[in-house]
Amino acid sequence: MGFDFFVATSDGEEIKRPRFLKILQRKLKLLQRRLKNKQKGSNNRHKLNQRIARLHQRISDTRKDWHFKLAHHLVKDAGMIFVENINFVSWQRGMLSKQSADAGFGQFVNILEWVCWKTDTYFAKVDKDGTSQTCPNCGTHTGKKYLEVRIHKCPECGYTTKRDVAAAQEVRNRGVTIEMLRHCA
Ligand SMILES: [Zn+2]
Repeated sequence: MGFDFFVATSDGEEIKRPRFLKILQRKLKLLQRRLKNKQKGSNNRHKLNQRIARLHQRISDTRKDWHFKLAHHLVKDAGMIFVENINFVSWQRGMLSKQSADAGFGQFVNILEWVCWKTDTYFAKVDKDGTSQTCPNCGTHTGKKYLEVRIHKCPECGYTTKRDVAAAQEVRNRGVTIEMLRHCA
């Protein structure tokens, strides 16, 4: 889950945040700004507040619907789903706070887990630490990447792919390894 895209997968797919949600959110901001010019207790203010509440509801319904569609899309043809185990509480205090809160990552992970359960698809969360600092092809520690570095290029094996896709592949590697160890134990 990331900054440029809502999610990237180990199959190389990158999924953008939907435009219709951005448009609705922009509309919401406009209405909220208009609220400042309305007199407290006035009928106009009351009406505008109702419009804002309705729009909030619409955004949340629309987002949830999209999360379900995306979850079904990801689960289709996948035998196993592994996601980064992100601590959303501490993450939201961090730099990505606004984007991640808007994007509703926490809700999406819950929906994805539910869809996996419904479709009998294995689901697990794996440790996310350093997933963007490890080459998924050879396991070399490639060091911290700045956020503006969008490409993973391994100095050891030369493996090159998009940054978030490489991180997703590392998440997959970890998930598969944990699963193998569990079966061997
Ligand atoms: Zn490598």
